[in-house]
Amino acid sequence: MRLENISNSLKDTINIFYPDLCAACDAILVRGETGICAACVLELPRTFDETNPTDSRTAKIFAGRIPVKYACALFAFQKQSKVQELLHRIKYESRREAGETCGALMAETFNVNSRFNEIDLVIPVPLHPKKLAKRGYNQAEVVARGVGEQLNKPVLPKALERVHYNDSQTTKGRMSRMESVEGLFRVRLADQLKNKHVLIVDDVITTGATIESCIQPLLAVPGITVSIAALAAAHQ
Ligand SMILES: [Zn+2]
Repeated sequence: MRLENISNSLKDTINIFYPDLCAACDAILVRGETGICAACVLELPRTFDETNPTDSRTAKIFAGRIPVKYACALFAFQKQSKVQELLHRIKYESRREAGETCGALMAETFNVNSRFNEIDLVIPVPLHPKKLAKRGYNQAEVVARGVGEQLNKPVLPKALERVHYNDSQTTKGRMSRMESVEGLFRVRLADQLKNKHVLIVDDVITTGATIESCIQPLLAVPGITVSIAALAAAHQ
């Protein structure tokens, strides 16, 4: 018996007692599925932004606000949906493998559109160090790793830093939220970003205010082009 077979049968035995569950629907995962089941991959609502990335519904969120080349989300976000459940578990319940799988899945959809070959670097929206210490990992970085691996592009989690610690903004309205995110991020590795096409990755886009404030300081880097990708986006 080959070592690979032994470890696979050991995995199967362990899975009988502690099965891995789909982060979106709780179905038991079978061999070959990581983090999310094949049915959810097929059935969760897609945006198909990648078919028209310059004028996608996600790109329209940023129109007139900030210059962005491509903007894509994999799934359409709705409250009380499996997509919301999936995002919650990736963010708060350490379901990193689900985040990475979905990031890779998103990058796979990009591959149908060769325009994404021009991307040089992948940069996750950073968490404040305090929040990172509290949560243990950055969910945007987990997604970015999946994207970077699939696109075969380097991931630079330290290219940007979050300079202000802002707590939950969920109760504030759109305007106050936009004001409170100004000056939230700073560019650290400007030299490495010169004349590059960077893909900013987050888990979810709602108002777009966080990514907008993330991109603002990047625009001072000479020759930079910025695109956006998220696992999900809420469209009006
Ligand atoms: Zn599922």
